[in-house]
Amino acid sequence: MEKVILIRFSEIHLKGKNKGYFLKLLYTNIKTALKDFKKDITPIQNRIVVSNYILDEEDNIINEIKKVFGVYSISVAQVLDSNENAIVNYFKTIEVLGSFKVDCNRADKTFPIHSNEMAKRLGAIILENNKNAVVDVHNPETIFHVDIRENGQTYIFDKIIYSYGGMPLGEHRDGLLLLSGGIDSPVAGFQMAKRGLRQDVLHFDSFPYTSPQAREKVISLAKKIKTYIGCKYMYIVSMSNLQEQFHLHCKEEYAITLLRRAMIKVSNILCEKYGYKTIITGESLGQVASQTIESITVTNSVAQYPIMRPLISFNKDEIIKIANEIDTFETSILPYEDCCTVFLPQNPVIKPKIVIAEKEEQRIDLENLINIAINNITIIEL
Ligand code: ATP
Ligand code: MG
Repeated sequence: MEKVILIRFSEIHLKGKNKGYFLKLLYTNIKTALKDFKKDITPIQNRIVVSNYILDEEDNIINEIKKVFGVYSISVAQVLDSNENAIVNYFKTIEVLGSFKVDCNRADKTFPIHSNEMAKRLGAIILENNKNAVVDVHNPETIFHVDIRENGQTYIFDKIIYSYGGMPLGEHRDGLLLLSGGIDSPVAGFQMAKRGLRQDVLHFDSFPYTSPQAREKVISLAKKIKTYIGCKYMYIVSMSNLQEQFHLHCKEEYAITLLRRAMIKVSNILCEKYGYKTIITGESLGQVASQTIESITVTNSVAQYPIMRPLISFNKDEIIKIANEIDTFETSILPYEDCCTVFLPQNPVIKPKIVIAEKEEQRIDLENLINIAINNITIIEL
């Protein structure tokens, strides 16, 4: 008898003709996630099985599998040949103290005993061998799952570990995540990755107004979310010249609005150059002046690619909960300045207007400044 890790997947079932493509992606992503472990990975119908691993590494392996999007749930299972005697003999060895039920899933329709009948037989065997066991079909303390698969193997387990579900990360890095040093943007990247969007990251700093530590903090955030979002490159673009010009020549209350439009213009150029198809931000409606509907409208109007804002309806406490789960929160709250906090206006405009933003931009040589910023880009391989 062998112990294996059984992996079930989520929405891939719904993908019809494309199911094979998504399964292959999931398989590849699990293989990558487990590259440092000794193991075999075998796809079977509607499941993936990890076997021949070192038992001491089981928890670590499960932790890595949990981070792979598209995985719905995981169980450590005993595997047997799908043979009535073998299954019955195994159930004779099970020790049960409290309430239980047996749940049988006969995916292999050639297995001669129907699932309800099989569950009853196995339940009776447990009762025979365990004085203190009682059947409770509604609210049992333990459920013994008997999963009779099409490959002639039966997987028996009593625990299901639920994962994030969603869609496997795609092969191509289609998304450009605007990563600040704050709490929200790493979570935004995570949320989009859950939908299968592989991303690289773009950070704006304002050196020398922002410190090298601020930059290091964002690099470490990018490394923390790498497992989830699959990023390979981090782009760092300095906004200091632009911000100085805005500060000297433009309406003070529009400083953040103009900076955000410039960020999107830089993003447009990188999308065009490197083939990203969408821009992701951590904006949440109403969180700050730059995230009102009017501010979003004025920023959006310069975007040449769809901007995805997965946190738009999230409350801060909901965002923090996820930040803790993906282990970015403690890094995000380190007290280094962000370019948005440099030249911060006293009263940022809450309801900016596109025409005014455009007029303010004409006061400086915006296009040229953006080109200079991009020509001085730093690209880090993560
Ligand atoms: P966060 O916690 O992610 O920093 P925030 O609440 O500070 O968000 P803003 O400063 O208005 O909000 O930024 C909104 C979004 O714009 C961020 O979530 C991020 O996607 C992007 N952004 C802001 N500043 C930067 C930056 N310096 N570099 C890259 N992207 C940024
Ligand atoms: Mg921020």
